[in-house]
Amino acid sequence: MPNFEPNTISELEINISQCTKCDLAKTRNLTVPGDGNYNANIMLIGEAPGSNEDKTGKPFAGRAGSLLDELLMRSGIERSKVYITNMLKCRPPSNRDPQLSEISACQPYLDLQISLVDPSVIVTLGRFSFAKFFPQVTLSESRGIVRDWKGIKILPVYHPAAALYNPSLKPKLIQDFQKITTLLAEKDNTSLSNIQTQPNTQLNLFE
Ligand code: SF4
Repeated sequence: MPNFEPNTISELEINISQCTKCDLAKTRNLTVPGDGNYNANIMLIGEAPGSNEDKTGKPFAGRAGSLLDELLMRSGIERSKVYITNMLKCRPPSNRDPQLSEISACQPYLDLQISLVDPSVIVTLGRFSFAKFFPQVTLSESRGIVRDWKGIKILPVYHPAAALYNPSLKPKLIQDFQKITTLLAEKDNTSLSNIQTQPNTQLNLFE
């Protein structure tokens, strides 16, 4: 847990910059807490910083970030209007997958970010962030399907980096990102009749 309970995103980012709660603190260059609009209706959550992010301290700063910008632009959404963060705030060595212990250690920061930004829509980018909310279903069977989590609409999509390695995924990403604008249009409509609801079960990434 953070050393104190931050009241603002700025305070939380300072707290993250000093964090040594997992071994990633030993190998990181910069922490990458998050970026964007602190009052955003839309929060995007990726996996972990990569090399460019570790150097700049900004999430999605490399090629995957350029694709993310394009996906947002195609959906008519300015990056400056959303808040973007990752499950982990420090880069795993050699861009390996996050470990469960690291996700556990870092989770309180993400939980506070969600609480402070208070978005109406969360777009999970890739399987790790989706598993935070719905650990018992796979991303491949769930992408593009909106679910309710504690009153927030969760839209799971593939990680943009996946489309860099497998371009056939890009049309699916474009299609799924288009749903964000529809969700925002529905923001004031309290009926969630078309949204699947599942309980928030415990994180279980590796089953
Ligand atoms: S990954 Fe998270 S828990 Fe680990 S050192 Fe960085 S900020 Fe702290």
